[in-house]
Amino acid sequence: MVLEDARQEIVKFARRLRADGLVAGTAGNLSIRHGDLVAVTPSGVDYDEMSPPAIGVHALDGSAVDAPLAPTTELPMHLAVYERSDHIDAIVHTHSPAATAVTLLVDELPSIHYYVSLFGGPIRVAPYARFGTAALADSCAAALRDRKGALLEHHGALTGAATLDEAYTLALHLEWLCDVYLRARAVGEPKRLTEEQIAAALVGLEGYGQPAR
Ligand SMILES: [Zn+2]
Repeated sequence: MVLEDARQEIVKFARRLRADGLVAGTAGNLSIRHGDLVAVTPSGVDYDEMSPPAIGVHALDGSAVDAPLAPTTELPMHLAVYERSDHIDAIVHTHSPAATAVTLLVDELPSIHYYVSLFGGPIRVAPYARFGTAALADSCAAALRDRKGALLEHHGALTGAATLDEAYTLALHLEWLCDVYLRARAVGEPKRLTEEQIAAALVGLEGYGQPAR
């Protein structure tokens, strides 16, 4: 099976999406780029029923290489991100509620917590375009410039990183950040960290966890 490891990895994280509160029903989609190929979730398949062979493999122009089912309608968005972002080889797109709510309020999620450093800075909101369109793909890829996350106006969120594990963790962090922002904003104007404080936080986070043995 082409890209067997990537397909298994996608199924593993797809099965967590609903339990982690990141999507409802079959919303959202995941992909991994490997060289000139992209493995991506199919359209409208229940995540609990998804198996590695159901994950489609496509070329970077979107043509099917080994795809038994129709791909997610957001395949153009995944492809546009891969085309323009050298630092991204895996994508998680969700409709998580706090992230989606924030897109209705601001053009950028400000630096309200040091976790913003994980994304490379404040997280931009890509202007609205209908789902599945080239316009949304362009809007999203532009918002992701130098970032590992973007919010999609009236739609949801997208995170991208070198691995699906990292992109998925970022999706959880982005939802948490948006939830905190909404709570603070409900009672006042949230304070912000400076660019210097965000940069210093990233240096600290790079050494976080148990030292390698
Ligand atoms: Zn979507």
